[in-house]
Amino acid sequence: MLWLAFGPFHAMENQVLVIRIKIPNRGAVDWTVNSGPQLLFRDVLDVIGQVLPEATTTAFEYEDEDGDRITVRSDEEMKAMLSYYYSTVMEQQVNGQLIEPLQIFPRACKPPGERNIHGLKVNTRAGPSHHSSPAVSEALPSNSLKKSSAELKKILANGQMNEQDIRYRDTLGHGNGGTVYKAYHVPSGKILAVKVILLDITLELQKQIMSELEILYKCDSSYIIGFYGAFFVENRISICTEFMDGGSLDVYRKIPEHVLGRIAVAVVKGLTYLWSLKILHRDVKPSNMLVNTRGQVKLCDFGVSTQLVNSIAKTYVGTNAYMAPERISGEQYGIHSDVWSLGISFMEPLQLLQCIVDEDSPVLPVGEFSEPFVHFITQCMRKQPKERPAPEELMGHPFIVQFNDGNATVVSMWVCRALEERRSQQGPP
Ligand code: ATP
Ligand code: MG
Repeated sequence: MLWLAFGPFHAMENQVLVIRIKIPNRGAVDWTVNSGPQLLFRDVLDVIGQVLPEATTTAFEYEDEDGDRITVRSDEEMKAMLSYYYSTVMEQQVNGQLIEPLQIFPRACKPPGERNIHGLKVNTRAGPSHHSSPAVSEALPSNSLKKSSAELKKILANGQMNEQDIRYRDTLGHGNGGTVYKAYHVPSGKILAVKVILLDITLELQKQIMSELEILYKCDSSYIIGFYGAFFVENRISICTEFMDGGSLDVYRKIPEHVLGRIAVAVVKGLTYLWSLKILHRDVKPSNMLVNTRGQVKLCDFGVSTQLVNSIAKTYVGTNAYMAPERISGEQYGIHSDVWSLGISFMEPLQLLQCIVDEDSPVLPVGEFSEPFVHFITQCMRKQPKERPAPEELMGHPFIVQFNDGNATVVSMWVCRALEERRSQQGPP
């Protein structure tokens, strides 16, 4: 029970933080910091200045789990880095691993327009004069992160995803038509989730599915599962996506409202993103909402390929408890039907699932849950599709507004704790 010995997140922040300053071609220097959370960007630059007196360092970088370098140039970005680092520490603890120091890579001033190995423009707008505009400095990190992960997706997808490069490990679960495996992608060293679906279809249909899946390369949202590529081998398709170490929401028991609220915000943002691309999810349910120990929440299994959906449906027909009444009765499916499924998905963790087409919409007992939450669910589950909230109304709903604070730590801590509990119940491997 390492995790309990170490205490929860806020206690962890009070622990000594070791920052490993990497020096090109000369190894590294470890710097022990006693007040991690209070650390300022300037303090780090000062220490780097002492370690590397000959260079003018204006920023530094750290690596995320994918090995993407993320630049830090402000206190805000420092906070993001520390929050990410503490979440990895938590993960290492949960897994009983040694705690790695926080590695940073000082970046000396570079001439404008210099390019990194992926051909991306290196941002050289660092420096005090640019910190006057918080909007600019806040917009930069997510932008550069987005660019590099999009680039990584391209590299991975550029004809390089194939069966030979994949080593299947554990089975993550079976669904309606497919099996999902945790897998290792040898060339990139990445852990993936690979969904394998048996499909006895013509070569023509296989090609059509592959071209319909193309749009997934364009999906670039932190609320949508990353797509790395797909391929057919004989009569089965393998769809490779980002692995989420917290798994899907359906395996979590009661989720407290303050956690569920943050999850709902991410799900609404993910759906709004898909709808903006004219994609209907068509399968919104807890098993298609994935979480990780970094506190991220992402949607998966949306119906991007009509042909794939049809081909699976030929083998596995059926309705499920999350489908909107109009869908069950075979009427037209629209954004509103996704909204119904959203509502019912968030009722389930509260163990109040009771939804049948011919009966009145389910109602949550008032008093046990907050009024905005009850209102949100009730609105999403209006019988008449048009009476359900439109995308912008969902985003503006008090329940969503209340939890739209970007606090990933809440979800992260809850996922870590739940995984730890699960592990201790299972006993030693
Ligand atoms: P259905 O087939 O009706 O959509 P399902 O969502 O439960 O049902 P699958 O999509 O095959 O079935 O997924 C099986 C399980 O695999 C999920 O419940 C989830 O726990 C796990 N899983 C799926 N994708 C990932 C992923 N990217 N990372 C981690 N776990 C995943
Ligand atoms: Mg699924």
